[in-house]
Amino acid sequence: MENYEVLQRNLENRGFTVRVANSQEEVIPILKELVPEGAQIGIPGSVTIRQLGIIENFKMLGHKVIDTWDNGDRENRLKQLNADVVLTSSNAITEDGLLVNLDGTGNRVASMCFGPKKVIAIIGINKVTKNLEEAIYRTKNVAAPLLYKSKNSNTPCQKTGYCHDCKTTKTKQCRVLVIHEGKPRGIEEFHIILIKEKLGF
Ligand code: SF4
Repeated sequence: MENYEVLQRNLENRGFTVRVANSQEEVIPILKELVPEGAQIGIPGSVTIRQLGIIENFKMLGHKVIDTWDNGDRENRLKQLNADVVLTSSNAITEDGLLVNLDGTGNRVASMCFGPKKVIAIIGINKVTKNLEEAIYRTKNVAAPLLYKSKNSNTPCQKTGYCHDCKTTKTKQCRVLVIHEGKPRGIEEFHIILIKEKLGF
């Protein structure tokens, strides 16, 4: 992805607020600027957010952090998706500004659609795809296999590295595919931080 200006403009036309960071180090001050003092922060299943190592940082600043990987029960997931601010990523983003996400439980994509007043998605250069077809391909053949391998889930994709299009929920962990064509009206601010580095799955 060479032309971030075009991607930024396309996202802004869809209602997103966009910042571009050259490195992970540049993301931390942007986040501190965007997350209001004392805000509750919801963290769904995002490898990007954990790789950034910012969760402890926010706890030290006095924020209540609701992390669904600490506690994955229904009540905690509901709290996460209704937090003041949700920090997440996207499995893929197209050059014309669509966000594409594949989820199993649903709370991650739900919180990107309705619940929090503010969503901040941090997206590495490795997630940018030419078009929607490539974005969906990426979610199922790159993001999902890597995620399920990291969790040692019983899916065929984590063993082979590509999607087998599971027909049964016995092996199918990915259940919900969501495409954002624009900022949902129920979310007041939807920030996207594009990083010119590979990050997350
Ligand atoms: S359908 Fe099955 S093989 Fe394909 S990504 Fe989902 S879990 Fe993996």
